Amino acid sequence: MGVDENSDRKTVLDLGKKSTPMTDEYFMKMALKEAEKAFDEDEVPVGAVIVQQGKIIARGYNMVEKLNDPTAHAEIIALTSAFNAMGSKYLPDATLYVTVEPCLMCAGAIHWSKIGRIVWGAPDVKNGHHCYTGEKNPFHAKTQILYGLLQDEAAELMKAFFRKKRI
Ligand code: ZN
Repeated sequence: MGVDENSDRKTVLDLGKKSTPMTDEYFMKMALKEAEKAFDEDEVPVGAVIVQQGKIIARGYNMVEKLNDPTAHAEIIALTSAFNAMGSKYLPDATLYVTVEPCLMCAGAIHWSKIGRIVWGAPDVKNGHHCYTGEKNPFHAKTQILYGLLQDEAAELMKAFFRKKRI
């Protein structure tokens, strides 16, 4: 009985370990970590990760200043990296987590990627794609969308960045 009890407990612990990284919140926290890297490098703090079968296959954070390239958004960097990693131009089985609502350019890139799912955090009332698309969904017809996840954390990082810029 003692042995069984131990092995049961071990199973429960293992499941616990495995189940944690599978949640949307866990991966959004990883995207927030990417956003913090951008913040530390004096870039607008947006971060993204792309996940397939419970594994992060690509990461990206905003590098517009570093690369002197206004297209170097977190989503574009993560998507390009994911296409390379998977050897595929489409990502129907992947989920993109991004801390802030994608802009129109990124919404276009996400559309062409045919990504299976997109999860974003804070709305971007100035530059988010909603400013242009309204309630229309710019993504691929099969792409599932979830937004508002950990939006306070993402928005707080953005606010802190622009506060820092003003000083
Ligand atoms: Zn963008």
